Amino acid sequence: MNGRKPSLLVRLPAHRMPCRRALRATTAGLLALLLPLAFPAQAAAAAALRAPTAVAPGTPDDAMASALQAVEARRDSLVDAGRRIWEYAELALAETQSSALLAGLLEAEGFSVQRGVSGMPTAFVASFGSGHPVVAYLAEYDALPGLSQTVSSTIEPRIPGACGHGCGHNLFGTASVGAGLALKAAMVEHGLAGTVRVYGTPAEEQGLGKVYMVRDGLFDDVDACLSWHPSDVNQVSLQPSKALRSFEVTFFGRAAHAAGAPWEGVSALDALEAFTTGVNLLREHMPETARIHYVITEGGDAPNIVPSRARLWVYTRGKDWQEQEQLYQHVLAIVAGADLMAWGEEHGQAASGFRPAQVTDYTGLYHYNPNEALARLVHRNLEAVGPPQFVEAHHAFARELQQAFGVEPKGMDAQITPFDPHAPPEPGGSTDVANISWVCPTIDLEVANWPVDVPAHSWASTAASGSEGGLLALLTAAKVLARSGVDVLTQPEAVAAMRTEFEAASAAFPYVSPVGPEDVPRVPEHLQGR
Ligand SMILES: [Zn+2]
Repeated sequence: MNGRKPSLLVRLPAHRMPCRRALRATTAGLLALLLPLAFPAQAAAAAALRAPTAVAPGTPDDAMASALQAVEARRDSLVDAGRRIWEYAELALAETQSSALLAGLLEAEGFSVQRGVSGMPTAFVASFGSGHPVVAYLAEYDALPGLSQTVSSTIEPRIPGACGHGCGHNLFGTASVGAGLALKAAMVEHGLAGTVRVYGTPAEEQGLGKVYMVRDGLFDDVDACLSWHPSDVNQVSLQPSKALRSFEVTFFGRAAHAAGAPWEGVSALDALEAFTTGVNLLREHMPETARIHYVITEGGDAPNIVPSRARLWVYTRGKDWQEQEQLYQHVLAIVAGADLMAWGEEHGQAASGFRPAQVTDYTGLYHYNPNEALARLVHRNLEAVGPPQFVEAHHAFARELQQAFGVEPKGMDAQITPFDPHAPPEPGGSTDVANISWVCPTIDLEVANWPVDVPAHSWASTAASGSEGGLLALLTAAKVLARSGVDVLTQPEAVAAMRTEFEAASAAFPYVSPVGPEDVPRVPEHLQGR
């Protein structure tokens, strides 16, 4: 690993910052005069987003201060990108505009960008610098089906049936790009050695992008992977995530007239119903940390035809991969049992048109392996930057969303949760960041952009992710991640501690890709083209 290089004492060109600041000051001044007369609350919220906040103390040759200044200097373009990606709201593996926007921002500032990696046209790796330490930032930008929503405190889709950013990935990708650009600026200005990479990781909501990028070895030389996620709190934690398998089950039957000759038919829908009954009986006997959920995506075409095909999409989850795999194997046995129930004595007889149920695996996510040494480093930077500076208008909108959602109207979280490595595990989901955490030291920062207690993947979190307060969170995340990147590049002893901890943890769970070398990332058929 390279150590800290002496600062080259390169200073910012004198014309750079003041011009932009003066321009912004003029805009802010006009806004301050005009907007409050018509829309006082909205004006305050908008002004908080646009007005530069004070840069933390530091001399111009301080790399930390440079990184923070670099985020501030890009405030307008980052907020604009966060807003545009929220409007694009593109589904997994179809994030064409979102990916192009973020990759373009990086390329315009001197990153070399490799697009279409790991068989995904919307995946990219943007890189600047060379050698170790290698800092990785992750950019997610996919939206969720059916969650289209305006920035409003009542349920009101922007485009009925379309996707929406209910998980805040419009902020996730943008803030990480902001951090990458800021770290690059600090590296150039202060001669810091190493590499900064921004990984464009599509289809997180389908658990796809990073799984395939890890399979292809794209994270093998990373010293520190600095991830973050929008949230309702500001914290760095060692909270686990669940292991998960995503798979589709297709049952086949034999079509016949449902009234005239039902005895000639074999209902694929019967098999599906028998399967879900079996799964729901299994629930009583599962460990409390396990989960199964499914959606039925195909159940026949018309009541007067015995359905010849029925299909559902299933997740099995467990506290770790082993628990999940045990559950998965049991669920596969239920698939076989349900198929037998539907076909009866004709089961297995090709001459009668029998076709066995088909299981299509999409992906596997491992349980998360957080790196405590890296967590402490990021937490220190979260404390240095502070929580997002929400103003009353942001809290007021948050309270409206909370009331509409039926949770206590507490507003936005304006505190930082103390770092607690012994906090008891809380219920939670899964993430493909977890797969990265088994190949390099990884940590996840959370910054509040949803109102406290409003759940992710809801219309309310979609509204919040496009709001003025929500967009503010991306600037906080960018600053914390940029500062943390400076630490990684300049503190070889911290990097060594992360590596030691990582090697001890990962020795017990050597990485085996849950997807094979020939597997191709894809989303289920019913989502294609949405
Ligand atoms: Zn997410």
